[in-house]
Amino acid sequence: MAAARLAPYAADESQSRGRRYDEPSSLYRGEYQRDRDRIIHSTAFRRLVYKTQVFVNHEGDLYRTRLTHSLEVSQIARSIAVALDLNEPLIEAICLAHDLGHTPFGHAGQDTLNECMRDYGGFEHNLQSLRVVDELEAKYADFPGLNLMFETREGILKHCSVKNARELGDVGERFLQRKQPGLEAQIANIADAIAYNNHDVDDGFRAGLLSLDQLREQPLFGTQLLEVQRLYPDLEDRRLIYEIIRRMIGTVVTDLIEETRQRIDDAGPASIDAVRDIGKPLVSMSDRIYEQHVSLKRFLNQHLYRHEQKLEMTRTAQVMIKDLFVAYAADAQRMPREFADAAARLDETGRARVVADYIAGMTDRYAIAAHETIAG
Ligand code: MG
Repeated sequence: MAAARLAPYAADESQSRGRRYDEPSSLYRGEYQRDRDRIIHSTAFRRLVYKTQVFVNHEGDLYRTRLTHSLEVSQIARSIAVALDLNEPLIEAICLAHDLGHTPFGHAGQDTLNECMRDYGGFEHNLQSLRVVDELEAKYADFPGLNLMFETREGILKHCSVKNARELGDVGERFLQRKQPGLEAQIANIADAIAYNNHDVDDGFRAGLLSLDQLREQPLFGTQLLEVQRLYPDLEDRRLIYEIIRRMIGTVVTDLIEETRQRIDDAGPASIDAVRDIGKPLVSMSDRIYEQHVSLKRFLNQHLYRHEQKLEMTRTAQVMIKDLFVAYAADAQRMPREFADAAARLDETGRARVVADYIAGMTDRYAIAAHETIAG
C-alpha cells in the first residue's frame, strides 16, 4: 500500500518488524491504518470516554476525558509527523492507544492498584496499555489481542523496567540495549505532555482551580497573555484563555518541529534503525521552550493535580479501588464469568493479575457502581 511521502528515517511498513501473528495484508488499507482502525474498534477505546483524565466524569460535561485527551494528543502528534514527513497513520495509532491501560480515576486509581499488586508484580498503566492490545482485547478468531504491528507496540510501550523488559521479548529489547524507539513513538510521547499541559490549563481555569494571576507567572502563558491582551484589549476571559492556549500549543509545536528537524539534519539517520541506534531521542524542544514547558508542568502538578478538591477525589478513589481489589481477590466469583473462569485456572499471582485487569478496565462510573454492590 503506497504511503504519503515518507522521509528515509520514518517508519515504513515495507520494512516493518511485522505482527506477532502473520496475517494477509488488506486490499485498500496500509498496515498502520489497520492498526489505528483496530484500536478505534476496541472495547478499551470506547471506555476512554468515561475515564478520568484529571476531572472525574461526573464533575462536568466540558472537561477532558481520556478519550478527548487521546484525540488531542493524536492531533498534535499528527501535525508534527506531517511536518517532518513521518508516518501519520502509525503516529495516530500510537496516540489513540497510549492511554488504553489507564484505570478508572486517573493516577490515583493506578497508584492504588499498583499498591494492591505489590506482591504480584505491580501495576503500571503504560505496560497495561500494551497488555490490552496484546492480550486482553478478545475480538479476533485467529489471535488474542489486536495483533498490532511491532512499531505500534514499540510506541505504546513508553517506559519499562529491566525486569519487565526481559519478559516482554522483542518490544522490550530496547530497554535492555538502551536504544530509542522510532521518531513516531518519540513524538507521540512528547505530544502527550504538550496536550495535557494545555488542556489542563483550560480545564483547571474553567473549574475555578487556577486563576489568571497564577497563570501569568508562567512564561509560556504569560508571554501569550501579554500578546493577546495587546491585540484584543477587550476580550472576555473565556476567549482570552482559548486564544492563549492555541498560541501556546502553536509555540511549543513549532519549536519542537524546528529543533527536531535540526537534530535530524545533524545526526543524518538513514533509516528507522539508525534512529533507534542513536543513544538519545532526536525529538526535542529547544532548551528555552523545554524549560518553560517543564515549568508549566510543575505548576500544574502543584496547583491543579494536588489541589485540595482533587485530593478529595484521590482519597475516594483509593478507598474504592482497594475495596474492589480485596473483594475480588477474596472471591473471584464476584467478577463477570470470563474473569471468574480465568481466575479459577490460575495460582494466587495469576488471580491477582486477572483482578487487576478487570478493575483497570472499569470506567469511573462502572467502578462506583461495582463498589456500591460489594459494599452492600
Ligand atoms: Mg496521556
